[in-house]
Amino acid sequence: MLNQIYKTIKKYDTIVIARHIGVDPDAMASQIALRDAILLTFPKKKVYAVGSGSSKFSYLGKLDKLEDLKDEKLLIVLDTPDKRRVDGVDVDSFADSIKIDHHPFMEKFCELELIDDTASSTCQLIIDLIYHTKLKMNTEIAGKLFLGLVSDSNRFLFQNSTEHTFRLVADLLRDYHLDIVSLYQDLYMRPLHEVRLQGYIAQNMIVTDHGVGYIKLTSDIISKFQADAGSAGNMVNNFNYIEEVLVWATISEDKKNNIIKVNIRSRGPQINHVAEKYNGGGHALASGARVPTMEEAEQLIEDLDSVCEQYLK
Ligand code: AMP
Repeated sequence: MLNQIYKTIKKYDTIVIARHIGVDPDAMASQIALRDAILLTFPKKKVYAVGSGSSKFSYLGKLDKLEDLKDEKLLIVLDTPDKRRVDGVDVDSFADSIKIDHHPFMEKFCELELIDDTASSTCQLIIDLIYHTKLKMNTEIAGKLFLGLVSDSNRFLFQNSTEHTFRLVADLLRDYHLDIVSLYQDLYMRPLHEVRLQGYIAQNMIVTDHGVGYIKLTSDIISKFQADAGSAGNMVNNFNYIEEVLVWATISEDKKNNIIKVNIRSRGPQINHVAEKYNGGGHALASGARVPTMEEAEQLIEDLDSVCEQYLK
């Protein structure tokens, strides 16, 4: 499969690399790293990494504006299990398409699909692709892939951080002498007001009877801490390993987009099926959903509580 992907990449002069809406470091690092690896290997190709960016992840590099391309082009979709969440392109307007993803399978929408939901991250799959084909890498590309992998595995906390994951990271360290202290600084540095919001979440988290910890963050609270709904929701990653909490969620009101974003994590019960019921999805133990009202968010929390109750039985 990796060779088939390489051959398809080799065949096209124009390539567009897309990923899911609501960009995160794994999605963005994988598309920028793959773009740069293709350009390093085939300098004459035109390769675009597209989709809405976030200034928070500017250390990963710049995304591209999609020009009006007349030539036959290849689409590569990364880190996205379903067509409706592909950001910034019309999937059906391409001559050929490849999907590379580590989410549980949802639907086939590309010609060639490499899906491995046991991989820690899409960046891990891109590292494999580059090491097993004639694609080239350099220190900068390796650093980005390292960051995406570290971010999506939450610093190797999840079960999908396997022997293979650690071996690939060891290969990157050996071959590209990564300065991990400086890379971690890019990924984890945050302003004091975000840490204060984290303190607010810890102080005010509600825990249900069966171990769902959640916090409702209205837009007033979020702006009081000078944060935004995205960075507030991301804090869900900082609340693992609390004895009383099996599943935990941040419920963040995004007034600008008139939506309530729910970020959910679990250290046991499978939560993606609950997320799917509420216009969401994701991995077994890390999911997200979008709901129109706080009442619906509360319903989602009740469903999570039932899942925990079943799990505890
Ligand atoms: P997050 O909490 O945003 O880091 O997302 C955790 C996982 O859930 C990621 O794999 C996301 O791609 C996925 N996810 C988040 N929000 C949604 C959504 N609204 N629909 C489908 N998947 C989502």
